[in-house]
Amino acid sequence: MKITDHIYIVASGKWGFGMTHELDCNAYLVDGGDGCILIDAGVGLDTDRMDEVLASHGFSLPDIRAVMLTHYHGDHACGAARIREASGCDVYAPSPEAEAISTGDEEATSLALAKGSLYPADFSYPRCPGVIGLNEGDEVAVGDVTLSVRMVPGHSLCSMAIYGAVDGKKCLFTGDSVFVCGQVLIQSLKDVSIFPYAQAMKRLAELETDALFPGHGVFCLENGGSHVKAAADRFATGLIPPQLYYFA
Ligand SMILES: [Zn+2]
Repeated sequence: MKITDHIYIVASGKWGFGMTHELDCNAYLVDGGDGCILIDAGVGLDTDRMDEVLASHGFSLPDIRAVMLTHYHGDHACGAARIREASGCDVYAPSPEAEAISTGDEEATSLALAKGSLYPADFSYPRCPGVIGLNEGDEVAVGDVTLSVRMVPGHSLCSMAIYGAVDGKKCLFTGDSVFVCGQVLIQSLKDVSIFPYAQAMKRLAELETDALFPGHGVFCLENGGSHVKAAADRFATGLIPPQLYYFA
């Protein structure tokens, strides 16, 4: 699905637009003109469907020069190993989570807990050696596009949001940290942290954001920052924002 001149959704499952495997997060392709950045990689199952979406827009895996993973959960990160194998691209992730993706650590990523329920019982986390860790303010550039990193602990040990100007819009890709209407996703997992989540949301709300591209559900192209602010304001009252509607 083409969203703007240079931004596409190339995977999205049942907690989104139902385009590809049901467990896929929203994966966004940003075309830099001389190669692309893929933001999140999906779950890595039934991958022909994602490849068909890419092809429908005139792209193929070798066009992907960088994969930026917002966090290490399987529905966002498990597709990365295959894409790197096919494209030779760099794979980036928040530095506190990079090692677990490199080694396919099913305990650290909470996959072990979700097997047989959220994920198929025989699903395994593919190792993706050499994931490059990113920290606050780090940048990844491909062609005309430069995206920078904002660390967001809370939903996972330390997720990252990805920020940059594309097609004249200030874009914020938030993974599972914040969704439209100021929704969040707080699961009963060992690496969830509420207070750091609240603090990170306050920092994220200070960014000027036009377009908000979350890891599940719908995106929006204008006033994206108002959705982030809604979450930050709710946290600021000492309460927890509403859960992503698919899980509420
Ligand atoms: Zn997640």
